[in-house]
Amino acid sequence: MASKHRVIVAFWQHLTRRSLASAIVMAGAFGALLAQADDNSNGDTLMVDLESEQAPAESQPAASRSAPDIDLKEVARPPAAAAELTNPDAGAKPLSEPLSDSIQPAPAVETPKITANFSLLGSDIRPGISTRLAWSPNIQIAGLSHPTPVLVVNGINPGPTLCLTSAIHGDELNGIEIVRRTLYDLDATKLSGRVVGVPIVNLPGFEQGSRYLPDRRDLNRHFPGSANGSLADRIAHSLFTQIINHCDMLVDIHTGSQKRTNLPQLRADMNNPDVAAFTLGFDRIAVVHSSGSPGMLRTAALNAGIRAVTLEVGESHRIQEHQIEAGVNSLISLMEKQEMISRMFAWGAPEPVYYDSLWVRVDHGGILFSKVGLGDNVNKGDLMGHVTDPITNAQYPVRATRSGRLIGMAVDQVVMAGFAAYHLGTKADNPEFHITGELDHAGNTSMGESVEAVKSGDDFLDNDG
Ligand SMILES: [Zn+2]
Repeated sequence: MASKHRVIVAFWQHLTRRSLASAIVMAGAFGALLAQADDNSNGDTLMVDLESEQAPAESQPAASRSAPDIDLKEVARPPAAAAELTNPDAGAKPLSEPLSDSIQPAPAVETPKITANFSLLGSDIRPGISTRLAWSPNIQIAGLSHPTPVLVVNGINPGPTLCLTSAIHGDELNGIEIVRRTLYDLDATKLSGRVVGVPIVNLPGFEQGSRYLPDRRDLNRHFPGSANGSLADRIAHSLFTQIINHCDMLVDIHTGSQKRTNLPQLRADMNNPDVAAFTLGFDRIAVVHSSGSPGMLRTAALNAGIRAVTLEVGESHRIQEHQIEAGVNSLISLMEKQEMISRMFAWGAPEPVYYDSLWVRVDHGGILFSKVGLGDNVNKGDLMGHVTDPITNAQYPVRATRSGRLIGMAVDQVVMAGFAAYHLGTKADNPEFHITGELDHAGNTSMGESVEAVKSGDDFLDNDG
């Protein structure tokens, strides 16, 4: 057990030391570890007839199997121990164990109404258990592919299904830890509804420290995907049909891109009354209107009737403790508001803060040096930074074009004219404004600027990392 513990601890320590390269080296082993250690399907594949042709898992009718109950806080076995899965003493409870024996009945007075099994990825998950499944889009050479871990906590009480996805852009790391902490701290025997977490959607990108897929496409522009399309289309289709379609609510976790960092914030289509109401569940977080664009997971999920928002936390390539804490807190408050969990708010019940927003762009190429920090409030005309031309030594000030709070900004770097450097948010008093505002008519409201920015072509600025 001690050596298994070291594997996991070492992995997360590598991440927290921001040593992405070395973390990536371990990532493959980690993914295989999570997927193989507890997914009994791998035990099955050890005993297949090697001469028989195996159809891809997605095309199999896949007789459902009972998912093992796992304490997600326990350290999983490394891949080398996978063979132990054939040993009934080595792992989870026996799969043939009858339901009635494995669920401890609550005292008569408090007996909850037990939900039905939850079927996902070919497994039947009993109410009141946590388990670890594996998703594979089947795009690699079958014998070489390693599946992506999927964590499921199926509450003993009925309730909605909340899905959490992260690392759709493989270089956006904060969400991976947010999903881990959120899922691992849930108690299935007290939860109402279900939480499904996919910590690393874009495993190939994650392993290469890249935002993109191996074909250089952006996965978050291809949802809901198609079974016969490009590599990105097929991965999107597989995720969407096998996991996302089972959700009632979706929080897709991202970070800033292109060396920009974000205050923890939701991107939500406030024109959609269901989404606007959904954002009320997130305490202590900025909410920025963004209508989204075709192909984004958030947009596709909304079109499928799933309430969906994007959670933006920090910057890519980094693990940032404060950002992670804020993200986890927001998700906990959401689950409480949805009556999935109960906890005591020691700090009262703050509400989300709504922002209209615009980006301030630099007008000259050079090196950007900022005078302000993320979360600062500025007044119109305030100096936010300089662009210094390293050849001519000319300095160009960058000033706030209106008053507001810095909800996103570029880190110091070399920039070209037109680079969007500072994301300024102005508080909107009433979220109803967004729902009923004249958003389709240009310019007359402050929301018009936000909509205009979405149309500017910098999709990654206003649409999910
Ligand atoms: Zn992203």
